[in-house]
Amino acid sequence: MHTADQLQEIYNRMFDHFGCQDWWPGDSPFEIMVGAILTQNTSWQNVEKAITHLKEAGLLSLAAMSALPAEELAEYIRPAGYYNIKAGRLQNFFTMIKQNWDNDLDSFLALPTAELREQLLGVKGIGPETADSMALYAAEKPIFVVDTYTHRILSRHGIIPEEYGYFEIQELLMDNLEENTRFFNEFHALLVRTGNRFCKKSKPKCADCPLLGAGSLEE
Ligand code: SF4
Repeated sequence: MHTADQLQEIYNRMFDHFGCQDWWPGDSPFEIMVGAILTQNTSWQNVEKAITHLKEAGLLSLAAMSALPAEELAEYIRPAGYYNIKAGRLQNFFTMIKQNWDNDLDSFLALPTAELREQLLGVKGIGPETADSMALYAAEKPIFVVDTYTHRILSRHGIIPEEYGYFEIQELLMDNLEENTRFFNEFHALLVRTGNRFCKKSKPKCADCPLLGAGSLEE
C-alpha cells in the first residue's frame, strides 16, 4: 500500500472510532497561542486551570498579560507547571509581537505560513511543535503538527523509520496528504487521542485500538 493510502486508512479508522475532535479548545487565537506555550510538558487539564485563572482575573488578552510583571504572570499560570520558565516564554512571545507588529496580532497571524513560522521559531522557548500548533490552530495555516504520538504511532506501523525527526515526519505527511487546514487539524487531534488512549509508550493496548492491523504493522 502507498504511504498516502496508509495514512488515509489510519485517519479513517481513527475518525470512525472517535468521531470529530473539533480542536483546539480556546475562545480566540490569542488564547490558543497562550495554551500552546502552557501545554509544553504538561497535561491539558493543568493548562485549563491556568487559563481559568487568567480568565477569572480578566487577564486573558495581549494587552493585559503583556503588562504583568514576570513574577505575577508566573503565579497566574502556576497550575501549568514550570511556571517561571513559561512566564518567560510568554513574555518573549509578547515582546516579539510588540517589537515586530506593534501588538497587531491579526496582522501577524495573516502572514504567509513560512514567515509566520520563522518569526515564531525566532522566539526563545518556542520550538517547532509549539510554533506549528500556533500556525495551525490559531492562524489556521495548513501545516501538520508533529508530536510524540505522531512519531510513535507512525513508526510502530512501519510508515516512518524510528530515527525520523520532526521535520522529516512533517515533510512525509505533507507530501502525502491533501493540504487542508481542517484535515490537518483533525488528523493531529485524532493521533493525540489514539496515542493517549491506546498507544502507550511502554505497553500499547493494541487489542482494543482502532489502528490494529493498519499500515504495515503486523500485530
Ligand atoms: S496501540 Fe497498537 S494498534 Fe494502536 S496505534 Fe499503537 S501500535 Fe498501533
